[in-house]
Amino acid sequence: MENEKTNEKVTMEKIESLAKRRGFIYRGSEIYGGLAGTWDYGPLGIALKKNIKDMWWKRFVEDRSDMYGIDAAILMNPKVWESAGHVATFTDPLVECEKCKKRFRSDMTEGKKCPDCGGKLGEERQFNMMFKTTAGAVEDSASVVYLRPETAQGMFVNFKNIVDSFHPRMPFGMGQIGKAFRNEITPRDFIFRTREFEQMEIEYFVKESEWNSQFEKWRSEMVDWMNDIGLQKKDIHELEVAPEDLAHYSKRTIDFEFDFPFGRKELYGIAYRTDFDLTSHQNGSSVTLEYIDDVNKEKYIPHVIEPTFGVDRTILAILCTSYDEEEVEGEVRSVLRLPKKLAPIKVAILPLSKKEELSVVAQPIFEMLRKEYVCQYDETQSIGKRYRRQDEIGTPYCITVDFESINDRAVTVRDRDTMKQDRIAIDKLSEYLKEKFL
Ligand code: ATP
Repeated sequence: MENEKTNEKVTMEKIESLAKRRGFIYRGSEIYGGLAGTWDYGPLGIALKKNIKDMWWKRFVEDRSDMYGIDAAILMNPKVWESAGHVATFTDPLVECEKCKKRFRSDMTEGKKCPDCGGKLGEERQFNMMFKTTAGAVEDSASVVYLRPETAQGMFVNFKNIVDSFHPRMPFGMGQIGKAFRNEITPRDFIFRTREFEQMEIEYFVKESEWNSQFEKWRSEMVDWMNDIGLQKKDIHELEVAPEDLAHYSKRTIDFEFDFPFGRKELYGIAYRTDFDLTSHQNGSSVTLEYIDDVNKEKYIPHVIEPTFGVDRTILAILCTSYDEEEVEGEVRSVLRLPKKLAPIKVAILPLSKKEELSVVAQPIFEMLRKEYVCQYDETQSIGKRYRRQDEIGTPYCITVDFESINDRAVTVRDRDTMKQDRIAIDKLSEYLKEKFL
């Protein structure tokens, strides 16, 4: 882990304001007053998101010979959702205020009063969270399709394709990163609960007798991942979901909860989905989804362990963990202490002034380093302001080119976390940074 600290200074206001000010995350459709539950990622937000997704994909798909990647369509045959049980049960309990007509998830209201206006809340009813739309020119019930509320089903319906194309030996898994949509009754807490979000999911197929050991393996894989993206153990809590609260497909679920500024809430989950999904799709499609083990002469429907990771919640947890403030020479410095591998910009090249005699030294450094790292060249405003900006976006190293550089062919490298500055010869810069980024 790259940073060890307790973070009492972080509030959602500060995170949201930094995210907007510095170009990470904006309100969706902001100039029209926004659209509840949607957020747009700006240049630095996508860079951070991409770094997270790339790291996940490499680790859980590319670096493993038992994993198969997939990118299924968001729109699926509606029978998928019928078979999977989502049409009947992908619901949240909802209550409506009789006075202001606002709707709330009933687990978010305490007692019988409206959290907004104090009015009386009506009876609880079930609300299906899938977004419905129509495919094709005719809008009738036969053309109804849903936006997928999870990426998981795209993997189950491709189980047979993967078996037929690749003949994998058990156990093996599929991995997918993609958008999911849920008509959340109360989207809230910035990018924590949105109506359009991204998931990184794994469906890992096992023999029934091995589900428990595989569940434990994946549980510790998830812990290792959280550690590697810089989350701290003290902020993460495993919650064994009580039998009466389990989703319709699950025999065991553990939620990984994170201490967000607004409370301890679900970050990730791992579920034992039994053979529920493959059996349901076999029944629904009349296509056999059994696995044939030629070696052991067995035929069976595999059971499934599902580790699931929300991309947006990962970003929020990382931002909350990384955000720090400290007093420097009577001023507050805010800094994102992002793990270096996740930082959107790795190196900033900052000539002290816009004068040409400095840019002829600084530009070639920029051209050289950008071949290896995502770099930014910035010659506007005062050097103090530029440092502040790079600190706030989590850039690990700033290289300052000053008037001495012209003669001594050396530059100053400033470390984001310690603010320590090293004078490094330009021809040693690449080597110096390589070591720093190890
Ligand atoms: P919650 O109880 O918070 O609604 P959930 O248990 O319904 O979450 P899952 O169905 O397990 O969530 O979804 C898998 C993962 O997708 C979650 O662990 C979370 O990271 C992410 N996720 C789910 N719903 C949302 C949402 N509305 N906005 C952002 N991320 C979400």
